[in-house]
Amino acid sequence: MANSTKRDYYEILGVPRNATQEEIKKAYRRLARKYHPDFNKDPEAQEKFKEINEAYQVLSDPEKRKLYDQYGHAAFSAQPGGQEYQEVVFQNIGDLFEEVFKGFGFEDIFERATRGRRREQRRPIKGEDIYYTVELSLEEAFRGTVVSIPLVREVACDACGGRGYDVNKGERVCPTCGGRGEVIQRQFFITISQTCPTCGGEGVIREACPKCRGRGTIPQREEVKVRIPPGVDTGSKIKAEGKGHAGRFGGPPGDLIITVKVKPHPIFERRGNNLYVDAYIKITEAMLGTEIEVPTLEGGRVKVKVPAGVQEGETIRVEGYGMPRLMSDGRGDLFVRIHIDIPKLGFFEKFFGDGKRIKQLLEELDKLLPEPKRIRERQT
Ligand SMILES: [Zn+2]
Ligand SMILES: [Zn+2]
Repeated sequence: MANSTKRDYYEILGVPRNATQEEIKKAYRRLARKYHPDFNKDPEAQEKFKEINEAYQVLSDPEKRKLYDQYGHAAFSAQPGGQEYQEVVFQNIGDLFEEVFKGFGFEDIFERATRGRRREQRRPIKGEDIYYTVELSLEEAFRGTVVSIPLVREVACDACGGRGYDVNKGERVCPTCGGRGEVIQRQFFITISQTCPTCGGEGVIREACPKCRGRGTIPQREEVKVRIPPGVDTGSKIKAEGKGHAGRFGGPPGDLIITVKVKPHPIFERRGNNLYVDAYIKITEAMLGTEIEVPTLEGGRVKVKVPAGVQEGETIRVEGYGMPRLMSDGRGDLFVRIHIDIPKLGFFEKFFGDGKRIKQLLEELDKLLPEPKRIRERQT
Protein backbone atom coordinates (compact mmCIF):
# COMPACT_ATOMS: atom_id res chain seq x y z
CA MET A 1 0.00 0.00 0.00
CA ALA A 2 1.30 3.37 -0.96
CA ASN A 3 0.31 5.03 2.30
CA SER A 4 2.63 2.76 4.27
CA THR A 5 5.67 4.68 3.15
CA LYS A 6 4.25 7.96 4.40
CA ARG A 7 6.16 10.04 6.86
CA ASP A 8 4.67 11.21 10.09
CA TYR A 9 2.70 14.45 9.55
CA TYR A 10 4.13 16.11 12.64
CA GLU A 11 7.59 15.24 11.50
CA ILE A 12 6.91 16.67 8.03
CA LEU A 13 5.88 20.00 9.52
CA GLY A 14 8.59 19.77 12.17
CA VAL A 15 6.22 20.44 15.05
CA PRO A 16 5.72 18.56 18.30
CA ARG A 17 2.62 16.44 18.75
CA ASN A 18 1.14 18.93 21.17
CA ALA A 19 1.70 21.89 18.84
CA THR A 20 -1.05 24.53 18.84
CA GLN A 21 -3.02 25.33 15.68
CA GLU A 22 -1.08 28.59 15.47
CA GLU A 23 2.26 26.74 15.59
CA ILE A 24 1.11 24.33 12.91
CA LYS A 25 0.01 27.23 10.71
CA LYS A 26 3.33 28.98 11.13
CA ALA A 27 5.35 25.87 10.40
CA TYR A 28 3.26 25.24 7.31
CA ARG A 29 3.70 28.81 6.00
CA ARG A 30 7.43 28.68 6.52
CA LEU A 31 7.83 25.31 4.78
CA ALA A 32 5.38 26.12 2.00
CA ARG A 33 7.40 29.24 1.15
CA LYS A 34 10.60 27.22 1.20
CA TYR A 35 9.40 24.42 -1.05
CA HIS A 36 6.92 26.19 -3.30
CA PRO A 37 7.74 24.99 -6.84
CA ASP A 38 7.72 28.60 -8.07
CA PHE A 39 10.60 29.52 -5.78
CA ASN A 40 12.41 26.23 -5.30
CA LYS A 41 13.76 24.55 -8.43
CA ASP A 42 15.05 21.49 -6.62
CA PRO A 43 13.40 18.44 -8.25
CA GLU A 44 12.50 17.13 -4.82
CA ALA A 45 10.82 20.36 -3.82
CA GLN A 46 7.57 19.55 -5.58
CA GLU A 47 7.24 16.25 -3.75
CA LYS A 48 8.04 17.99 -0.47
CA PHE A 49 5.49 20.70 -1.18
CA LYS A 50 2.82 18.09 -1.77
CA GLU A 51 3.77 16.31 1.42
CA ILE A 52 3.63 19.52 3.43
CA ASN A 53 0.20 20.38 2.06
CA GLU A 54 -1.14 16.97 2.84
CA ALA A 55 0.18 17.08 6.39
CA TYR A 56 -1.26 20.56 6.91
CA GLN A 57 -4.68 19.60 5.59
CA VAL A 58 -4.92 16.94 8.25
CA LEU A 59 -3.27 18.68 11.19
CA SER A 60 -5.05 22.01 10.66
CA ASP A 61 -8.44 20.32 10.90
CA PRO A 62 -9.12 19.43 14.54
CA GLU A 63 -11.40 16.52 13.59
CA LYS A 64 -8.91 15.01 11.18
CA ARG A 65 -6.04 15.65 13.54
CA LYS A 66 -7.81 13.73 16.30
CA LEU A 67 -8.32 10.78 13.98
CA TYR A 68 -4.73 10.94 12.84
CA ASP A 69 -3.44 11.02 16.43
CA GLN A 70 -5.47 7.95 17.15
CA TYR A 71 -4.97 5.86 14.05
CA GLY A 72 -2.08 7.38 12.11
CA HIS A 73 -2.22 7.34 8.33
CA ALA A 74 -4.58 4.41 8.49
CA ALA A 75 -7.31 6.87 9.50
CA PHE A 76 -7.42 8.23 5.96
CA SER A 77 -7.08 5.12 3.90
CA ALA A 78 -9.40 2.25 3.26
CA GLN A 79 -9.04 -0.50 5.76
CA PRO A 80 -7.88 -3.77 4.33
CA GLY A 81 -10.86 -5.66 3.04
CA GLY A 82 -11.54 -9.31 3.25
CA GLN A 83 -10.44 -10.27 -0.24
CA GLU A 84 -6.91 -11.07 0.84
CA TYR A 85 -7.92 -13.03 3.88
CA GLN A 86 -10.88 -14.98 2.79
CA GLU A 87 -10.53 -18.67 3.21
CA VAL A 88 -10.14 -20.48 -0.05
CA VAL A 89 -13.14 -22.73 0.52
CA PHE A 90 -15.52 -19.82 0.28
CA GLN A 91 -13.64 -17.83 -2.29
CA ASN A 92 -16.22 -17.64 -5.05
CA ILE A 93 -19.42 -18.06 -3.20
CA GLY A 94 -20.16 -14.34 -3.53
CA ASP A 95 -20.14 -14.63 -7.30
CA LEU A 96 -22.18 -17.77 -7.13
CA PHE A 97 -24.77 -15.95 -5.08
CA GLU A 98 -25.03 -13.26 -7.73
CA GLU A 99 -25.58 -15.88 -10.40
CA VAL A 100 -28.25 -17.64 -8.43
CA PHE A 101 -30.00 -14.42 -7.71
CA LYS A 102 -29.96 -13.28 -11.29
CA GLY A 103 -31.39 -16.61 -12.40
CA PHE A 104 -34.29 -16.32 -10.03
CA GLY A 105 -34.98 -12.75 -11.00
CA PHE A 106 -35.15 -13.69 -14.62
CA GLU A 107 -37.37 -16.67 -14.06
CA ASP A 108 -39.64 -14.63 -11.91
CA ILE A 109 -40.22 -12.07 -14.61
CA PHE A 110 -40.56 -14.77 -17.21
CA GLU A 111 -43.13 -16.63 -15.21
CA ARG A 112 -45.10 -13.53 -14.43
CA ALA A 113 -45.24 -12.67 -18.10
CA THR A 114 -46.50 -16.10 -19.05
CA ARG A 115 -48.79 -16.44 -16.03
CA GLY A 116 -46.79 -19.35 -14.67
CA ARG A 117 -47.85 -21.66 -11.91
CA ARG A 118 -45.79 -20.18 -9.11
CA ARG A 119 -45.82 -16.47 -8.61
CA GLU A 120 -43.46 -16.29 -5.65
CA GLN A 121 -40.22 -18.10 -5.14
CA ARG A 122 -38.29 -18.63 -1.96
CA ARG A 123 -35.29 -16.47 -2.70
CA PRO A 124 -31.89 -17.37 -1.33
CA ILE A 125 -31.02 -15.08 1.57
CA LYS A 126 -27.43 -14.43 2.57
CA GLY A 127 -26.67 -15.25 6.21
CA GLU A 128 -26.08 -12.50 8.76
CA ASP A 129 -22.57 -11.23 9.40
CA ILE A 130 -20.99 -11.72 12.80
CA TYR A 131 -18.92 -8.89 14.27
CA TYR A 132 -16.09 -9.46 16.70
CA THR A 133 -13.33 -7.31 18.18
CA VAL A 134 -9.93 -8.76 19.03
CA GLU A 135 -7.43 -7.06 21.30
CA LEU A 136 -3.81 -7.62 20.36
CA SER A 137 -0.53 -6.65 21.96
CA LEU A 138 1.79 -4.52 19.85
CA GLU A 139 4.07 -7.57 19.54
CA GLU A 140 1.20 -9.62 18.10
CA ALA A 141 0.34 -6.84 15.67
CA PHE A 142 4.02 -6.79 14.71
CA ARG A 143 4.44 -10.50 14.05
CA GLY A 144 0.92 -11.36 12.96
CA THR A 145 -0.94 -14.07 14.80
CA VAL A 146 -3.75 -16.57 14.67
CA VAL A 147 -6.72 -15.85 16.90
CA SER A 148 -9.30 -18.37 18.04
CA ILE A 149 -12.75 -16.85 18.19
CA PRO A 150 -15.48 -18.63 20.11
CA LEU A 151 -18.78 -18.16 18.31
CA VAL A 152 -22.33 -19.34 18.33
CA ARG A 153 -23.17 -19.58 14.65
CA GLU A 154 -26.41 -20.42 12.95
CA VAL A 155 -25.57 -23.38 10.69
CA ALA A 156 -27.73 -25.31 8.24
CA CYS A 157 -30.08 -27.67 10.07
CA ASP A 158 -28.85 -31.23 9.60
CA ALA A 159 -32.34 -32.72 9.91
CA CYS A 160 -33.79 -30.91 6.91
CA GLY A 161 -30.60 -29.94 5.11
CA GLY A 162 -31.44 -26.28 5.65
CA ARG A 163 -34.71 -26.47 3.74
CA GLY A 164 -36.80 -25.71 6.80
CA TYR A 165 -39.50 -28.29 6.14
CA ASP A 166 -39.92 -31.89 7.16
CA VAL A 167 -38.26 -33.80 4.33
CA ASN A 168 -39.88 -37.08 5.39
CA LYS A 169 -43.33 -35.67 5.02
CA GLY A 170 -42.31 -33.98 1.81
CA GLU A 171 -44.26 -31.23 0.14
CA ARG A 172 -47.65 -31.47 -1.38
CA VAL A 173 -49.44 -29.29 -3.86
CA CYS A 174 -51.49 -26.58 -2.18
CA PRO A 175 -55.15 -27.59 -2.25
CA THR A 176 -56.38 -24.01 -2.22
CA CYS A 177 -54.65 -22.81 -5.36
CA GLY A 178 -53.76 -26.10 -6.95
CA GLY A 179 -50.13 -25.09 -7.12
CA ARG A 180 -50.68 -21.82 -8.96
CA GLY A 181 -49.73 -19.70 -5.98
CA GLU A 182 -52.59 -17.34 -6.64
CA VAL A 183 -56.31 -17.45 -6.38
CA ILE A 184 -58.56 -15.84 -8.94
CA GLN A 185 -61.95 -14.46 -8.07
CA ARG A 186 -64.45 -13.49 -10.71
CA GLN A 187 -67.09 -10.98 -9.87
CA PHE A 188 -69.28 -9.93 -12.75
CA PHE A 189 -66.87 -8.71 -15.38
CA ILE A 190 -63.88 -8.16 -13.10
CA THR A 191 -61.17 -10.74 -12.45
CA ILE A 192 -59.13 -10.26 -9.28
CA SER A 193 -55.99 -12.29 -8.74
CA GLN A 194 -54.50 -12.60 -5.25
CA THR A 195 -51.57 -14.35 -3.64
CA CYS A 196 -52.83 -17.64 -2.23
CA PRO A 197 -53.40 -17.20 1.50
CA THR A 198 -52.82 -20.89 2.28
CA CYS A 199 -49.35 -21.36 0.79
CA GLY A 200 -48.24 -17.71 0.68
CA GLY A 201 -47.82 -17.94 -3.07
CA GLU A 202 -45.44 -20.89 -3.13
CA GLY A 203 -47.92 -23.33 -4.58
CA VAL A 204 -46.89 -26.07 -2.17
CA ILE A 205 -47.55 -26.88 1.48
CA ARG A 206 -44.64 -27.97 3.64
CA GLU A 207 -44.67 -29.03 7.24
CA ALA A 208 -42.08 -27.24 9.33
CA CYS A 209 -38.98 -29.25 10.27
CA PRO A 210 -39.40 -30.30 13.91
CA LYS A 211 -35.71 -29.68 14.71
CA CYS A 212 -35.30 -26.13 13.42
CA ARG A 213 -39.00 -25.26 13.47
CA GLY A 214 -38.90 -24.13 9.90
CA ARG A 215 -35.94 -21.77 10.20
CA GLY A 216 -33.60 -24.07 8.31
CA THR A 217 -30.76 -23.22 10.68
CA ILE A 218 -29.75 -24.22 14.20
CA PRO A 219 -27.29 -22.49 16.55
CA GLN A 220 -23.94 -24.20 17.01
CA ARG A 221 -20.93 -23.46 19.18
CA GLU A 222 -17.77 -23.16 17.16
CA GLU A 223 -14.21 -21.98 17.47
CA VAL A 224 -13.08 -20.15 14.35
CA LYS A 225 -9.38 -19.61 13.79
CA VAL A 226 -8.46 -16.49 11.86
CA ARG A 227 -5.01 -15.45 10.72
CA ILE A 228 -4.12 -11.85 11.49
CA PRO A 229 -1.40 -10.55 9.16
CA PRO A 230 1.59 -8.56 10.46
CA GLY A 231 1.17 -4.79 10.57
CA VAL A 232 -2.48 -4.45 11.59
CA ASP A 233 -3.46 -1.41 13.63
CA THR A 234 -6.42 -0.34 15.72
CA GLY A 235 -9.40 -0.18 13.38
CA SER A 236 -8.08 -2.68 10.84
CA LYS A 237 -10.83 -5.00 9.70
CA ILE A 238 -10.41 -8.60 8.64
CA LYS A 239 -13.14 -10.55 6.96
CA ALA A 240 -13.33 -14.31 7.22
CA GLU A 241 -15.70 -14.94 4.37
CA GLY A 242 -18.40 -17.50 4.95
CA LYS A 243 -17.81 -17.69 8.69
CA GLY A 244 -20.96 -15.79 9.63
CA HIS A 245 -24.42 -17.27 10.09
CA ALA A 246 -25.74 -19.76 7.53
CA GLY A 247 -27.86 -18.40 4.70
CA ARG A 248 -31.47 -19.41 4.17
CA PHE A 249 -33.13 -21.10 1.22
CA GLY A 250 -29.81 -21.90 -0.41
CA GLY A 251 -28.25 -18.47 0.19
CA PRO A 252 -24.56 -18.24 1.09
CA PRO A 253 -23.41 -17.82 4.69
CA GLY A 254 -22.61 -14.38 6.09
CA ASP A 255 -19.10 -13.29 7.02
CA LEU A 256 -17.18 -12.98 10.24
CA ILE A 257 -15.89 -9.44 10.44
CA ILE A 258 -13.10 -8.85 12.92
CA THR A 259 -12.09 -5.41 14.09
CA VAL A 260 -8.60 -5.14 15.55
CA LYS A 261 -7.71 -3.14 18.64
CA VAL A 262 -4.03 -2.83 19.48
CA LYS A 263 -3.23 -2.28 23.14
CA PRO A 264 -0.72 0.41 24.10
CA HIS A 265 2.82 -0.79 24.75
CA PRO A 266 4.79 0.11 27.90
CA ILE A 267 7.92 1.13 25.94
CA PHE A 268 7.03 1.71 22.31
CA GLU A 269 4.67 4.31 20.98
CA ARG A 270 3.22 3.61 17.55
CA ARG A 271 2.45 6.23 14.94
CA GLY A 272 1.35 4.65 11.71
CA ASN A 273 4.17 2.31 10.76
CA ASN A 274 6.74 4.13 12.86
CA LEU A 275 7.69 3.35 16.43
CA TYR A 276 8.98 5.78 19.03
CA VAL A 277 11.09 4.91 22.06
CA ASP A 278 12.41 7.24 24.77
CA ALA A 279 16.11 6.92 25.70
CA TYR A 280 17.89 8.74 28.52
CA ILE A 281 21.52 9.82 28.33
CA LYS A 282 23.95 11.55 30.68
CA ILE A 283 24.60 15.24 30.35
CA THR A 284 28.21 14.44 29.44
CA GLU A 285 27.08 11.97 26.79
CA ALA A 286 24.90 14.69 25.30
CA MET A 287 27.94 16.96 25.04
CA LEU A 288 30.51 14.39 23.93
CA GLY A 289 28.30 12.14 21.82
CA THR A 290 27.90 8.45 22.52
CA GLU A 291 26.58 5.17 21.28
CA ILE A 292 23.64 3.58 23.05
CA GLU A 293 21.67 0.39 22.66
CA VAL A 294 17.90 0.50 22.42
CA PRO A 295 15.46 -2.41 22.47
CA THR A 296 13.58 -3.36 19.31
CA LEU A 297 10.02 -4.66 19.17
CA GLU A 298 11.15 -8.03 17.80
CA GLY A 299 13.12 -8.59 20.99
CA GLY A 300 16.74 -7.73 20.12
CA ARG A 301 18.71 -4.55 20.53
CA VAL A 302 20.06 -2.07 18.06
CA LYS A 303 23.04 0.28 18.39
CA VAL A 304 22.31 3.95 17.90
CA LYS A 305 24.90 6.69 17.46
CA VAL A 306 24.05 9.81 19.42
CA PRO A 307 25.88 12.80 17.97
CA ALA A 308 27.79 15.23 20.20
CA GLY A 309 25.63 18.23 21.03
CA VAL A 310 22.35 16.39 20.85
CA GLN A 311 19.48 18.40 22.31
CA GLU A 312 16.74 17.35 24.65
CA GLY A 313 13.82 15.81 22.72
CA GLU A 314 15.73 15.36 19.49
CA THR A 315 14.87 12.16 17.62
CA ILE A 316 17.26 9.83 15.89
CA ARG A 317 15.87 7.70 13.11
CA VAL A 318 16.78 4.03 12.93
CA GLU A 319 15.63 2.93 9.51
CA GLY A 320 13.65 -0.25 9.09
CA TYR A 321 13.02 -1.02 12.75
CA GLY A 322 9.37 0.10 12.81
CA MET A 323 6.18 -1.86 12.19
CA PRO A 324 5.79 -4.08 9.12
CA ARG A 325 3.68 -2.55 6.38
CA LEU A 326 0.31 -4.23 6.19
CA MET A 327 -0.10 -6.33 3.04
CA SER A 328 3.09 -4.88 1.67
CA ASP A 329 6.87 -5.15 1.93
CA GLY A 330 9.24 -3.38 4.22
CA ARG A 331 8.89 -1.75 7.57
CA GLY A 332 8.53 1.68 9.07
CA ASP A 333 11.29 3.26 11.14
CA LEU A 334 12.18 3.43 14.79
CA PHE A 335 12.63 6.90 16.24
CA VAL A 336 14.71 7.23 19.37
CA ARG A 337 13.67 10.29 21.34
CA ILE A 338 16.66 11.52 23.33
CA HIS A 339 16.22 12.81 26.86
CA ILE A 340 19.01 14.27 28.93
CA ASP A 341 19.08 13.00 32.47
CA ILE A 342 20.13 15.91 34.70
CA PRO A 343 21.56 14.39 37.88
CA LYS A 344 20.62 15.68 41.31
CA LEU A 345 23.83 16.12 43.28
CA GLY A 346 22.18 15.02 46.51
CA PHE A 347 21.72 11.58 45.01
CA PHE A 348 25.46 11.12 44.48
CA GLU A 349 26.29 12.42 47.93
CA LYS A 350 23.90 9.98 49.50
CA PHE A 351 24.94 6.87 47.61
CA PHE A 352 28.51 7.44 46.52
CA GLY A 353 29.74 10.20 48.81
CA ASP A 354 31.42 11.94 45.86
CA GLY A 355 28.87 14.61 45.14
CA LYS A 356 31.44 17.20 46.19
CA ARG A 357 33.91 16.06 43.53
CA ILE A 358 31.24 16.23 40.82
CA LYS A 359 30.24 19.67 42.02
CA GLN A 360 33.87 20.85 41.85
CA LEU A 361 34.29 19.56 38.30
CA LEU A 362 31.02 21.12 37.21
CA GLU A 363 32.00 24.46 38.65
CA GLU A 364 35.28 24.28 36.76
CA LEU A 365 33.44 23.33 33.58
CA ASP A 366 30.99 26.14 34.16
CA LYS A 367 33.83 28.65 34.05
CA LEU A 368 35.08 27.19 30.77
CA LEU A 369 31.75 27.08 28.95
CA PRO A 370 30.81 30.24 27.04
CA GLU A 371 27.74 32.15 28.03
CA PRO A 372 24.82 31.02 25.85
CA LYS A 373 22.51 33.43 24.14
CA ARG A 374 19.93 33.49 26.89
CA ILE A 375 16.93 34.85 25.06
CA ARG A 376 16.26 33.76 21.52
CA GLU A 377 13.58 34.21 18.96
CA ARG A 378 10.86 31.65 19.23
CA GLN A 379 11.32 28.63 16.98
CA THR A 380 8.30 27.95 14.87
ZN1 LIG B 1 -51.78 -22.12 -2.45
ZN1 LIG C 1 -34.54 -28.36 10.08
